[in-house]
Amino acid sequence: MDTIVVMKAGATPEDVQRVVDRVQELGLTPHPSRGEFRTIVGAIGKRTPPMQEQLEQLPGVDEVMAITQPYKLASREFHEADTILDVKGIRIGGPHVNIIAGPCAIESREVLFDVAREVKAAGAAILRGGAFKPRSSPYSFQGMGREGLEYLKEAGDELGMPTITEITDPRDVDIVCEYADILQIGARNMQNFNLLLEVGKTNKPIFIKRGLAASITELLMSAEYVLSQGNHRVILCERGIRTFSEDVRFTLDVSAVPVIQERSHLPVFVDPSHAAGKRDLVPALALAGIAAGASGAIVEVHSCPDRALCDGPQAVLPDNFRKLMEKIQQVAEVVGHRVTLWGREDSSPRRSAVGGWAT
Ligand code: PEP
Ligand code: MN
Repeated sequence: MDTIVVMKAGATPEDVQRVVDRVQELGLTPHPSRGEFRTIVGAIGKRTPPMQEQLEQLPGVDEVMAITQPYKLASREFHEADTILDVKGIRIGGPHVNIIAGPCAIESREVLFDVAREVKAAGAAILRGGAFKPRSSPYSFQGMGREGLEYLKEAGDELGMPTITEITDPRDVDIVCEYADILQIGARNMQNFNLLLEVGKTNKPIFIKRGLAASITELLMSAEYVLSQGNHRVILCERGIRTFSEDVRFTLDVSAVPVIQERSHLPVFVDPSHAAGKRDLVPALALAGIAAGASGAIVEVHSCPDRALCDGPQAVLPDNFRKLMEKIQQVAEVVGHRVTLWGREDSSPRRSAVGGWAT
C-alpha cells in the first residue's frame, strides 16, 4: 500500500525536501504536491511499519497515512482541494465552468472558421475540432491530419481561444503539441496505456474521456497513468456509457460527476453530444451535467450539420448553442459556479450570451 506524508501547515521547503529525500532513500517514488495550506508528499511503493514511524519523526511532518484507493495521485486523499488548471489565462476546474465548443471534425478552413466565430460569439471559452478521427468504420472520414491542426491553431489564435484536439497515436505527440493547447484522449483510447504514458510526458493538459464501458475507477486509473509521468494537468470527461437504452446513442452517467468529485480532485466535464447522438437532446444533457456540478461541457456545434462529415446529427446549430449558453449561465449560478464567457469569468450583473448585459 502506498503512503502520503502530510506536512504541517508551517513546514519549510527544507522540511519537505528532507521528506522527499528520505522517501527516495527508502526506495519509494516521491510526488510532492503543494496545496494552498499544506504540502503533501505521496510515496508510491510498498509500505512497511518502520517506514511509517521513521517518516513521522521527521521535522515538519504532521501525519503519515495509507492511500487506500488503487489510484493515488488522482485521489482526494492525495490532494484535498479541487485542482484548478490555467490554460492561457482561463481557469479550469472547481467552480469555474468552461464550455468547449466546435465541430466534431475539422472539415475545411472555411467551415472551421465559420463555426469557431459562432461559438466564440456565443461565449464559449475553448475551441474543439478533431484532426485525427477514430471512426467506427475504416471507410468513414478519418480527419484532415496536420492541415486540420494548422487551421485549428489559426482559428484559436485569431479568436483568442485555447484549442483542444484528439490524439490517437503516440507518434503524433510532437505534432499535436505543436498546434493544440489541450490534448484529448478519446473514449476508445482511454485504456491505450502507451498513449497515456506518452502524453504524460508532455506539459499540455490532458482531457480524458471515459471509455464506452469503463468504470469510474478505470477512468481514474487512466488519469493515474498520465499523473504518474509527472503531468499533473488532467481533466476528466463523462461522455455516456453503453447501457440497454436504445433511445440514445449512449447513456450520460450524470452521477459520475459527483462520484468522481468525491473521489478525485481533478476537474470533471460532461460531453452531452456523444451521449445524446441527437441534437435535440443535447441541451437537456448539458444542463443536467452543469446542474450536477461539472466544471464544463464539450459540445459539438456545426453551422451546416446536414453537410457535416462526422457526427452531423448530434451537432447543435449556432442559434440553439447561443440559447444553451444562456441557460448554462443560469444553471451554473444556481449551483454556485461561474461560467467563463469570452475568456473572462462571468460576474454579476449576469452577462447575457445573446444580447449583451442581462437585465
Ligand atoms: C469526439 O469528441 O469527437 C469523440 C470521438 O468523442 P468520444 O471519444 O467520446 O467518442
Ligand atoms: Mn464527434
